[in-house]
Amino acid sequence: MPHIINGKEISQQIKDELKAEVTRLAEKGRHACLAVVQVGNDPASSVYVNNKKKACAYIGIESKSYELAEETTEEELISLVEELNADDGVNGILVQLPLPAHIDEDRIIRTISPDKDVDGFHPVSVGRLWIGEKGFLSCTPAGIIQLLKRSGIAIEGKECVVIGRSNIVGKPMAALLLRENATVTVAHSRTKDLKEIARRADILIVAMGKKKFITREYVKAGAVVIDVGMHRDENNKLCGDVDYDDVAPVTSAVTPVPGGVGPMTIAMLMDNCVETMRIREEEA
Ligand code: NAP
Repeated sequence: MPHIINGKEISQQIKDELKAEVTRLAEKGRHACLAVVQVGNDPASSVYVNNKKKACAYIGIESKSYELAEETTEEELISLVEELNADDGVNGILVQLPLPAHIDEDRIIRTISPDKDVDGFHPVSVGRLWIGEKGFLSCTPAGIIQLLKRSGIAIEGKECVVIGRSNIVGKPMAALLLRENATVTVAHSRTKDLKEIARRADILIVAMGKKKFITREYVKAGAVVIDVGMHRDENNKLCGDVDYDDVAPVTSAVTPVPGGVGPMTIAMLMDNCVETMRIREEEA
């Protein structure tokens, strides 16, 4: 029987640890405030934003909401981000993506101060990650490292295959695994012989955005399989990039969807918010 990695439980554990740390820091007069900016009212984004604000409240971090109209111009958004950059009362800035099509996301990401970049998407944060410097980590891949470590799965020396090379999951995932001394292969849509490459993996991380694509032919017996995908199946039930029922029996450990990687993203966002407090504490 595989070990079912419980992301809900592990994320709760992390949030409780952060809550205790925030309480300790508050006793020393340190407080954190996250600015959450949403443009337009895409229902999925509103759910994500609300969950982030709830997590802040749970941990003891203040959150300030900026809900802007769909027609907001790029220049207006840039000036709000610049204002927040300059505001000492704001530790972290989160601009909920995706933004409306008339706004250049990359330009907005680059405008956020790297010192307040709690999503870890700014090129400075990405660079710090690759050269092994301290900085804000991209939340979903950082959450996967926590899932593995807190489930007692060693990463060092393991053959890890990451399927997907997006800037928010695949690439930072590869960098973090490398940092943990794994041997890392990154596969993508032009990869030849994906099955053969995936079957090399001791730890297979799937972030390809293709519903139930990975079946047991892609998985070595006893491998650990982490499913980042998030979709609705034909019965409107949540499912991942991995065909769970087919794959789980041949693994040693596996993440379900929902309840695997999903809950970790917010937990690690909260960790980045607390990191802004740790940095200020060190500088004090
Ligand atoms: P993305 O930007 O669409 O990237 C998908 C990656 O998969 C690309 O690099 C693509 O290759 C590769 N790919 C697509 N088809 C492939 C194939 N047939 N064989 C091999 N590689 C293939 O997706 P993403 O943003 O990384 O997200 C991936 C999935 O994770 C989505 O389902 C998303 O909803 C989910 N997600 C979940 C969370 C969470 O918190 N749980 C967070 C983020 C994302 P190319 O580069 O060659 O196009």
